[in-house]
Amino acid sequence: MFWHIDADFVALAIIFIVFTDIVINKAFSSPHWQDKIFAVVALSSFFLTLVDIISSAVMMMPNVNWWTYQLILTFYFITAPLSCIMWLIYTHSFSRPKPAKQELYLYFLMSLPYLVYTMAAITNPWSGFIFHLGPKLEYSRGNGYAWIIILYYFYMFFTTASVVRNRHTLGRAKTFLLLLFPLITAIAFYCQSYLFPGYLLICPSYACILLTSHLLLQNTRRKTDPLTGLPNRNALINELEERENSSRTLIMLSINDFSFVNERYGNVLGDNLLKEIAGELKAISLNNNVYRSSGDEFLLMFKDKSPKQAEDALEALKKRFENHWSISGAKLTLVLSIGVVSLPLPQDSRIDPLSALELAVREGKQKNSTSVTYYDSALSGKYNRQRQVLAAVREGLAEKRFKTYFQPIYNVDTKRFERAEALCRLCDPKLSWISPEEFIPIAEESEYVNEITYIVLEDSCRMARELHDQGAETVIHVNLSAENFLQADFKEKVLAILGKYKVPPSLITLEITEHLLLLRDKSAETVLRELAEKGVTFAIDDYGTGYSNLTYLANIPAAIVKLDKSILKISKDGGNFVLSLMEMMNKIKKTVIAEGVETEAQAELAKMAGCGHIQGYYYAIPMEESEFENFAVNHCLDIWCENINQWEQKENIAESISDK
Ligand code: C2E
Ligand code: CA
Ligand code: CA
Repeated sequence: MFWHIDADFVALAIIFIVFTDIVINKAFSSPHWQDKIFAVVALSSFFLTLVDIISSAVMMMPNVNWWTYQLILTFYFITAPLSCIMWLIYTHSFSRPKPAKQELYLYFLMSLPYLVYTMAAITNPWSGFIFHLGPKLEYSRGNGYAWIIILYYFYMFFTTASVVRNRHTLGRAKTFLLLLFPLITAIAFYCQSYLFPGYLLICPSYACILLTSHLLLQNTRRKTDPLTGLPNRNALINELEERENSSRTLIMLSINDFSFVNERYGNVLGDNLLKEIAGELKAISLNNNVYRSSGDEFLLMFKDKSPKQAEDALEALKKRFENHWSISGAKLTLVLSIGVVSLPLPQDSRIDPLSALELAVREGKQKNSTSVTYYDSALSGKYNRQRQVLAAVREGLAEKRFKTYFQPIYNVDTKRFERAEALCRLCDPKLSWISPEEFIPIAEESEYVNEITYIVLEDSCRMARELHDQGAETVIHVNLSAENFLQADFKEKVLAILGKYKVPPSLITLEITEHLLLLRDKSAETVLRELAEKGVTFAIDDYGTGYSNLTYLANIPAAIVKLDKSILKISKDGGNFVLSLMEMMNKIKKTVIAEGVETEAQAELAKMAGCGHIQGYYYAIPMEESEFENFAVNHCLDIWCENINQWEQKENIAESISDK
């Protein structure tokens, strides 16, 4: 029989182009199941068309080996219904973005008729069940040929049923497009079988539907947020790239702590609220573009740089968010961080519009109320400084410029300096001295902080070891960051460094902040407990700046609490506040260190309230390694009494040293 394979060639080319685009857009590694399934649909259609062409061409060739022909035809019969199953799963993926486990079983169950059919196809050379090939390659249909037709209609029926059943969630356009597949293939099937035998129409029909779905379903989905129907981040990036230099105002709004809504009310109600917000934003933007740039972030784009429209929208936004939102009968007030950027950005700015917006939003997040931050020269200067500091940190690590200083901590009872805090220092050739208050938060965002922590810990262990060997045993405090706990091998590394210098864990105290505790991250707490079991002590740093409650503080394995310097400074009530705080600390059996003590009055207040240890410029400033070692070993009066004005105290301390 003569087969017209020209249409199949065109189909193969179309499917190949679609498939290439799918691969370029990394559909196989997409987080969306639907993208992956569509890629498989395209791949199976490609194979089917290829096999269709090969088998038809071979059929028309003279002197073909019987077995070669058998195998090609068998392969064709196996691949033919496969695309139908894939289409069914693809259609279903629109109403179930992620298949549940039982749905996977259902897909398996649905595939069973196909699997049975495949077994029949594999054994066909011997059974002749589906088709029969005579010794002179005469092709005839077998008794089971009807199976392939039944399978086609079986899967097409379920595809149609799935679309019709989910028509409300799918919407009119998607329902129509998804119904095209069973409709067009059924027509092609009928025409090829009865009206135009010899014309291959099934694969071309697949190619047409694949192309339509790729353009109208997949491509728009790639640029549309499925929840709100708004254009997504991809669409936004495209738009910004295409009209790089045109004047526009961008407003990004991020809802603070939206995860709270999801945790409290569940994801479904959280999603509904996001949809409602998207609807209101569309109304506020007055036909200007609204995008959903990520989970709880939306963006409004005003095509004209003229600020009037954008300013009006900003006002309307703030007004709307001053009022509450209703969720599950509860009234909820949402706090926004709004960033505003005018485009085009100044020529010399080395930042892209989205990063500028994110920077402005992040700046606003530091406030606890709805805020509007404009990306202006001040913010741009801040951003440039951050980049310079980050570069200084990177180079500082490579060039070993980080130094560890030590600040002695005074023990009120023994009148000795038995502890010290290790503090990191960086002197950059261009930026000169940079405060750790500036470079640590920047390093924390870039993971460099882990390297810094290990450097400081190593210097501290070396110092603790040397002092221990010289009989001047001193506990060294090392500051940790929340990022340290994200490292899987953090505990092992800490213990390895302690082991390297043979330092007993009791000589190292690790300082963590209340903020780190407030993350309530179970894994961080586990690491904390495991290190505490090994004998490492922990101190809560900057106590009084966070919000952790006393019960939590009592249960955490930290024996020491460091009162933040602000606490002694605000004590204008004759010390009543510090006294009651100390009472509580005694109840939960914490050793207390008062920080940032600069004056005699503050030192007296700390002692009067019962703080066992005091750290501050009043007693000793942070010192570089050799100076501190000298200090600790020789208890050099001239250095650490620099700030003590009263002779009486100097004498007391002199006594305590001679006692030792
Ligand atoms: P911190 O942990 O609260 O450290 C105490 C800070 O108070 C130190 O500032 C110290 O020099 C300063 N200080 C000490 N006595 C006084 C005083 O009497 N008055 C005043 N006003 N300040 C005093 P420094 O060294 O600038 O460190 C600032 C912050 O940087 C530290 O605060 C800590 O949060 C962070 N940091 C320093 N080194 C490291 C480190 O190695 N790792 C981590 N993660 N953070 C570090
Ligand atoms: Ca500290
Ligand atoms: Ca502190």
